[in-house]
Amino acid sequence: MADTSAAPDSSHGLESPGFTDQDWMDKALALAREAAAAGEVPVGAVVVRDGRIIGFGRNQPIGSHDPSAHAEIGALRDAAANVGNYRLPGATLYATLEPCAMCAGGAVQARIDRLVFGAPDPRAGAVGSVFSIPDDPRLNHRVKVAPSVRADASRALLRAFFQARRGKVIPE
Ligand SMILES: [Zn+2]
Repeated sequence: MADTSAAPDSSHGLESPGFTDQDWMDKALALAREAAAAGEVPVGAVVVRDGRIIGFGRNQPIGSHDPSAHAEIGALRDAAANVGNYRLPGATLYATLEPCAMCAGGAVQARIDRLVFGAPDPRAGAVGSVFSIPDDPRLNHRVKVAPSVRADASRALLRAFFQARRGKVIPE
């Protein structure tokens, strides 16, 4: 059972071979909550290989003054630095929101094996919604995709964040 309240670093490198996609997505959701607490759009991501997390990321473009500081890019950078290789074959990227064109492109560049995402993003998603980068035959690497894992939890976080930002009371 994933402990979503734990600080992400406390599970860094933790081997959890019995974890399901839902369990790993819970780790990414914990990072999305961290992003929201920092005033960033709540999106989180983890990279998993051989039953352990090798990279973490959360959305932080505002705080870091970096348009590329999306959760997935952060997780890919962290994972590549941790394993000492810019390519991550055999790894799975978990993202709470359907990745944008930049992040889906990053997954292809890293030779990620699988991409698992939460809520679809009909406005900017590049994993089937607006573009479909992971399975574009014109690219030289294909990423397997599993959509809509813990999508409701991801959507609820995003909805609460934007409602709070508009100053509305969130109805229960
Ligand atoms: Zn992105």
